[in-house]
Amino acid sequence: MADGKITRIGRCYACRETFGYDPDTVTTVLIDPQTRLPPGMTPFGTRRQPSPAALARAEREPICPRCVERARRFREEQTADPSAGWPTWRRDQGDSGSQAP
Ligand SMILES: [Zn+2]
Repeated sequence: MADGKITRIGRCYACRETFGYDPDTVTTVLIDPQTRLPPGMTPFGTRRQPSPAALARAEREPICPRCVERARRFREEQTADPSAGWPTWRRDQGDSGSQAP
């Protein structure tokens, strides 16, 4: 049996799936309810110094184990080859059945 006891049902902030969790052990992320983003994160995904007001109103939102695992794998891939970054889309690598003239 899992070590944590499921005492609450909630929605994962990342995938919005409902899941049961133990509030004492669940992974959470701090979210500003006004922007629905972590304090200090811009809508463009860049970081800035969070305002004290944003930090004060931010709340902890639960993350389901599947999303925690996905984030861990993503981080591992990024650390394994930091130069990889996001793959660059190139026109000459389009799908083989391209209908472009
Ligand atoms: Zn999730």
